[in-house]
Amino acid sequence: MSRTDRLAALLNRSGLDRLARLSWRGLLVLNYHRIGTPSETDDPDLYSCTADDFDKHVTELAKRFEIVTAGSTQWQTGGPARRIAITLDDGYADQNVGAEILHRHGVPGTYFITTGFIDKPQHAWWDEIAWLTGTPVDLPASQWLPDGLAAAGLDPTRYRRKVNAAYKAKAGEKGEEFLAALAGWTDRPRLDQHVSADRWMTWDDVRTLAERGMEIGAHSVTHPVLATLTAQRQREEIEGSVRRLTEELRSPVDLFSYPVGARTSFDATTRALLTEMGVRRAFSFYGGVNGREHTDAMDVQRAGVFGDHTPDVVQAMSAVPGILCSPSRYA
Ligand SMILES: [Zn+2]
Repeated sequence: MSRTDRLAALLNRSGLDRLARLSWRGLLVLNYHRIGTPSETDDPDLYSCTADDFDKHVTELAKRFEIVTAGSTQWQTGGPARRIAITLDDGYADQNVGAEILHRHGVPGTYFITTGFIDKPQHAWWDEIAWLTGTPVDLPASQWLPDGLAAAGLDPTRYRRKVNAAYKAKAGEKGEEFLAALAGWTDRPRLDQHVSADRWMTWDDVRTLAERGMEIGAHSVTHPVLATLTAQRQREEIEGSVRRLTEELRSPVDLFSYPVGARTSFDATTRALLTEMGVRRAFSFYGGVNGREHTDAMDVQRAGVFGDHTPDVVQAMSAVPGILCSPSRYA
């Protein structure tokens, strides 16, 4: 049991509420990715929790806080001092169960959809990397990894994360080239794209989310790190995803979450393009809680819920987000 687990287990609900009142005001936006358990063709880092645990998170959070949509609430003024929004990124089919759970509790969620995965289902680059790095081997020096990567001394998780970090930093428009090179070095076959058809939501699923009261935002077409692209390609990714959602939902879409979401994943060009396209709020993913003084609508901060966060830890995060959701934990 980690120190956070022990602290979390010690606190009952009234203790948590007292801590929350003392420690923060504003809007805490939690971010989830996949719900369920990973197979060998999935990146395990994408799994936030099981459906049972998601139900526990929502049950307890809804008892203690007003749960709001990430796009609707002005958190700087009025209303309760503390609000929580629950967001889910990417558009994986296993996130449909999240909407069922939220709906059953009568609370909203906000889904950010990568429209290219719905239009043309395929394995995401991080899932391909997880598969291709399943058995760590030494990687030679290359444009992606200037010093190569020695497998010795790295457990499979750290090895996978290092390859993933190299992709984020260097692949840019050359994602396919990166994955082909990795497949060559690791001597693993690329994933069969046919098996990926049921891993993403369909457009009917996305419309059902909206019918259940979920809020929908855009998350790019192909999930690149926007700041590594030219301005023209950034425009295509942002405009393309907003347009497809607007067409399919027949209502305007004015929310966006940055693919990957680190401070370096978006830049001044990204912000200017979003503003030009009428996006009024954009969400990052490097931790943080939005205090009443936080006014940057193009960088609304979000804290990730990860697979090792037990339900007790999620409740502790909501009590002391300044500590447990701090950006320093993402560095
Ligand atoms: Zn994403």
